[in-house]
Amino acid sequence: MTNSRLRAIGFWFSQENLPLPQLLVDHSMPKRERLLLARYLRGRNRSESYRGYSWCRFHCGERPEKMGHSDLTDGVWLWPEGLAHYVERHDVVLPEEFVAEACARDFNCPTWTRPSGDERPSYRADLVEMEFWTTWACRRAAAIDLSPPWHYEPPGLDRDRLLSELTRELFPKHPLACEPLVLIARRLDRDDVLLHFRRCGSLWRTSRGRAKKNQRAFRA
Ligand SMILES: [Zn+2]
Repeated sequence: MTNSRLRAIGFWFSQENLPLPQLLVDHSMPKRERLLLARYLRGRNRSESYRGYSWCRFHCGERPEKMGHSDLTDGVWLWPEGLAHYVERHDVVLPEEFVAEACARDFNCPTWTRPSGDERPSYRADLVEMEFWTTWACRRAAAIDLSPPWHYEPPGLDRDRLLSELTRELFPKHPLACEPLVLIARRLDRDDVLLHFRRCGSLWRTSRGRAKKNQRAFRA
């Protein structure tokens, strides 16, 4: 059993400081290489499976079954099954170190087997490290910095009232109006509010009282 942790890539913003794929779009990689990289990412080694399917954060209409419900690995890196779709369809770029290793293997994902007797779920922090991914994404300004002065769920906040105000003001006919809200954060130094909706996985930024139009936020 190895002590080195698998290095995570391709995990997207939920409520943590993970990147948004929209900020990693880069069309400079030649198409042929992109397709080979996507093939590598479809891999062959399932590390962990989950109950629910993933979804495309670009809302391109890809079926959830195609986005998968597993984590894959090559024994060094760990990524969600749907990552190939982002590379292939949306020109999302990945860390140079990962691409170089895949290229050195001629884009053939090596076989990996879980060490025998190791039943630990692969997403545990002692088996997978996320720091490389978040640091790389921050360097590319692809992650929203959710550290203070963002303030989560301010005491006394009336969620329903806030949502109904924002809905009325900003997106009265938008289907988000009936989405369950997962996260509300408010900046202490400005009048900004962040909203994150569960089913559509969107992050919106808006300014109470000022915004006339809804604005999908990719930067804080
Ligand atoms: Zn898509």
